[in-house]
Amino acid sequence: MSDAGRHTRLLHAGAPTLRDGAGPVNVPVVRTSTVRFASQQALESRQHRRAAGERVASYGRHGLDTHEALEDALTTLEGGHRAFLAPSGLSAITLMLLALLGPGDHVLVSDSVYAPVRRVDKTLLRRLGVTVEYFSPAHDDLATLIRPETKLVYLESPSSLLFEVLDLPKLAAVARERGVPVAVDNTWSGGWFLQPLRLGANISIQAATKYIAGHSDVMQGAVVVDSPALAERIATTHEALGLAIGADDAYLSLRGLRTLPLRLTQHQRNATEVAQWLQRHPQVGRVFYPALPEDPGHALWQRDFSGASGLVSFAFRNAGANAGSAFVDALRWFSIGASWGGYESLALVAPPERLREHRAWQGNASVVRLHVGLEDTQDLLADLDQAFHLTLT
Ligand SMILES: *Cc1c(COP(=O)(O)O)cnc(C)c1O
Repeated sequence: MSDAGRHTRLLHAGAPTLRDGAGPVNVPVVRTSTVRFASQQALESRQHRRAAGERVASYGRHGLDTHEALEDALTTLEGGHRAFLAPSGLSAITLMLLALLGPGDHVLVSDSVYAPVRRVDKTLLRRLGVTVEYFSPAHDDLATLIRPETKLVYLESPSSLLFEVLDLPKLAAVARERGVPVAVDNTWSGGWFLQPLRLGANISIQAATKYIAGHSDVMQGAVVVDSPALAERIATTHEALGLAIGADDAYLSLRGLRTLPLRLTQHQRNATEVAQWLQRHPQVGRVFYPALPEDPGHALWQRDFSGASGLVSFAFRNAGANAGSAFVDALRWFSIGASWGGYESLALVAPPERLREHRAWQGNASVVRLHVGLEDTQDLLADLDQAFHLTLT
């Protein structure tokens, strides 16, 4: 099985075993709060196996067959050792931070990460006595920033609004040499176009809410780790936080995963067409999409990624501060909204204060982020065109 192609393995990971020679293609939705035992001895044996680190459920919170199948599929997707499920992408990030950090610890975070991480920093980590330091992978030398008390390097590539591609193998090598684990938010690639664990990272985080579930109807996150030691740390904190997700949501993500490569390939095709069209548009100053040869991250993207997703940002050329909001208001097929990764197109004005946090880009033009969905591109381009006309006359 392990020498089969990636598509094959993703499609068959977590498939249910046949009982009495027959069974369904998909794992059933197994909902439960209580796990029933045939005897006191069966209960105790399971509890002991669980305490020893084995993935067996002794209570509904741990999840049964549906959850296990999704964990297996995510572990396969990321090429990891074990996956943990969380109720949202943000809760997966917080789980990982709480599992690895304690009072007096220092964590280095790339300055372009998903914005709510900065709220976790100010509202939770600071209170716990953790020092968070933001650094620019484009400007700073990671080696000189790592201190004896640095317990984690946390990265996101490409970054959330401007899709800055980081040199993950290099950053991971610097951290590893100093014994510091590296976690990467891998939501942009859906886990399909990038496997951070193969590039030297130790933890990969997914907001399964986005491309994995893929239909804008589930909130979910996952933490995938590369070793038994990290699995144990995440498992302890996961248990302490009482994190649980419903079996129906686990089922939806598993169903989404089976078509992830197909959907991503089409998102890439549509987004590339939109990005190239934006590049030629007289009202556009710059397009952010690493699959474009002109993008500063293109060479790294080409080396480390096998594709690009549906997210494309652009900056206006000579427009005022309100251009972004006038533009998104004028769109018809693109809805205004944040949680991308579904089949549909979305647009969002990038908040200027977020862009200023990102040292690799200090322009002051209005920036709009598009999620290019699976609609016909001629309709999307016509929609963008009429919005440009209405925005600047
Ligand atoms: C959306 C997102 C998250 C958070 O996921 P939720 O499920 O919305 O909590 C984390 N990281 C990135 C890069 C995201 O885009």
